[in-house]
Amino acid sequence: MLRSTLLKLSQSKRFANWVTSNSKTRTMARRFVAGESLDEALAAARVCNDQGMLVSLDYLGENVSSTADAQHARDAYLEVFEKIAEQKLHANVSCKLTALGMDLSTDFCEGLLHSIVERAATTDNFLRVDMEGSLYTQRTIDLVKRVRSQSPAIGTVIQAYLYRSEQDVQDLLSYGCRIRLCKGAYKEAAEVAFEKKADVDASYIRLMRLLLPSGFYHGIATHDPHMIGATIRCAAENQISKDDFEFQMLYGVRVDLQKRLVRDGYRVRVYIPYGNDWFPYFMRRLAERPANVGFFIRNFFR
Ligand SMILES: Cc1cc2nc3c(=O)[nH]c(=O)nc-3n(C[C@H](O)[C@H](O)[C@H](O)COP(=O)(O)OP(=O)(O)OC[C@H]3O[C@@H](n4cnc5c(N)ncnc54)[C@H](O)[C@@H]3O)c2cc1C
Repeated sequence: MLRSTLLKLSQSKRFANWVTSNSKTRTMARRFVAGESLDEALAAARVCNDQGMLVSLDYLGENVSSTADAQHARDAYLEVFEKIAEQKLHANVSCKLTALGMDLSTDFCEGLLHSIVERAATTDNFLRVDMEGSLYTQRTIDLVKRVRSQSPAIGTVIQAYLYRSEQDVQDLLSYGCRIRLCKGAYKEAAEVAFEKKADVDASYIRLMRLLLPSGFYHGIATHDPHMIGATIRCAAENQISKDDFEFQMLYGVRVDLQKRLVRDGYRVRVYIPYGNDWFPYFMRRLAERPANVGFFIRNFFR
């Protein structure tokens, strides 16, 4: 119920204006967002690298309504790849197709995506296309496959809560595509997605068991100790080396677990979001964990 309300609120312009113009809520968002500028994100990435973690930098933005905004996002992504190379950071980049104009025109979006993946390839790097609501799943997969046929420097994300995901995993693996597996963060109808946590978790483990032995390098994105335990067991059973996959976690979430996995010799990548357009991302993080809302309210009235 609370998750549903927060995800609905994440689409409210009025609530967004209030949250993003309030100095207290802006400060609170910093728990999950590295900052509004690229320099702040690069500094956060350096700290993670110094602690033995890899990074994925995400310039926040989604559902842009003009081609100029989409081109601005493209330019921001091109710049990130340059800075990563310049500063020799162990980082790749994550982006959302609706930030590149997917709602406006698929062809236009594809053109921008191509130029970003080319930059990823020339800087010996990698672009991960995040997965958004189920309205975009097929288009995202189709676009990633088309761009990937020109350059392997691109991969995408599969959400365990969608019924269709097993087929999508098989399809993407047949192209050798690198996949990030996550549970799924959007509000979905019962017609397309599991509703119960136990069903989502069971699906996650089934998909992880397909990915790990596939011979390609995948990202297991979760903070759930049960999913992490199952992944570690699956790797041991199949004699998969700790270097052949990575755990991925969000900036500001379960930092203790991130550090413990690094200490145990696992590869850990921290997803670091930055930029002005942090409101929907912040709301999804609140929705994931009811305790975050309590924390938010307590701090607001303090
Ligand atoms: C690197 C990365 C990339 C992602 N990319 C996408 C994407 O492209 N598309 C998409 O739909 N979703 C994405 N997600 C979000 C994901 O789908 C889940 O919503 C999110 O990770 C929570 O699920 P969980 O696996 O951590 O398990 P859960 O069962 O939700 O949580 C397990 C435990 O983790 C901790 N935890 C989880 N979330 C939070 C939080 N926000 N704040 C504090 N503690 C928390 C809590 O201790 C909780 O008990 C991504 C997640 C990660 C880590």
